[in-house]
Amino acid sequence: MFYPEPIAKLIDSFSRLPGIGPKTAARLAFYVLRMKEEDVIDFAKALVNVKRNLTYCSICCNITDTDPCRICSDKARDASVICVVQEPKDLVAMERTREFHGQYHVLNGAISPMDGLGPDDIRIAELVRRLGDERVQELILATNPNIEGEATAMYLSRLVKPFGIKVTRIAHGLPVGGDLEYADEVTISKALEGRRELY
Ligand SMILES: [Zn+2]
Repeated sequence: MFYPEPIAKLIDSFSRLPGIGPKTAARLAFYVLRMKEEDVIDFAKALVNVKRNLTYCSICCNITDTDPCRICSDKARDASVICVVQEPKDLVAMERTREFHGQYHVLNGAISPMDGLGPDDIRIAELVRRLGDERVQELILATNPNIEGEATAMYLSRLVKPFGIKVTRIAHGLPVGGDLEYADEVTISKALEGRRELY
């Protein structure tokens, strides 16, 4: 109302992002106004491209610009172990440790009755389909060490039991109630080393 329409619209767009209040949104919008035009165009293109050029890997459900993704296509990776994570950013956190050389499965969420999210709302069916591959011998459950992550891990361990596959859960070192994405590499490596079998 007080700003010219184009800047008001940009403030409105920024304020829709998570963690951005009206003041920060206004600050970012005025920052954009002062940016070089070519940088603004690059930024706008990056926003559009992330929607247009990304898809979900048909095997591991990670976001990717090639299908299957680079990890699923990499013959050097160990197909006998699948590390199950909640979000693409958790996979990146795990990759940063350079300790894990198996495959991944990205659930794109966690079971959360509070938010009305059940097993059918995340990529569990896709995971079960992969277990038919006889090469798979171990499933590492690396969901977050919080209520939703634990609930998801418990659900998966029961679901996978009939397949006769070893199911382990990362344990040591990760703060309870924390997010995998914020943990440092050493903490994640320790958690991976200290994984235990779930019964
Ligand atoms: Zn993949």
